[in-house]
Amino acid sequence: MPIATLRHHFVAGFPDRLQPGILYISIEFASMSHLCCCGCGREVITPLSPKDWKFIYDGENVSVHPSIGNWSLPCRSHYIIQSGGIRWADDWSDEQISAGRQRDLIAKRGTGNQRAGSAPPAHALAKKPAAVVRPGFWSALWNKLFG
Ligand SMILES: [Zn+2]
Repeated sequence: MPIATLRHHFVAGFPDRLQPGILYISIEFASMSHLCCCGCGREVITPLSPKDWKFIYDGENVSVHPSIGNWSLPCRSHYIIQSGGIRWADDWSDEQISAGRQRDLIAKRGTGNQRAGSAPPAHALAKKPAAVVRPGFWSALWNKLFG
């Protein structure tokens, strides 16, 4: 079952078992985590940084930019989290993904010529695949928090 809304939880560290429909936000670790909204149950980690993802909290709901493109997951789901709701976006071809990665690399090097002030089309918001949890990540996190 695809997830239609994400409720945000501000947490110090991520729980061992994520609940579907919850967007965990850790300021301490500058990252967010949730279960893929397609319902496949895979954990998706999105780092928070000026060059990665950022969220807007309006006092009630959270929006996340850019879109979440889970290209490294079998489901390849792609969606935008806007005011706690999920807006589904197009699947990307491999060419689009590599083009997006290239653009991302250029942006990270600071040589991009992105125009400020113009809103990119929704499909241009995706930057790169969300990092997928490595085995041992959670236990390392747990040890850091409680060890
Ligand atoms: Zn999925």
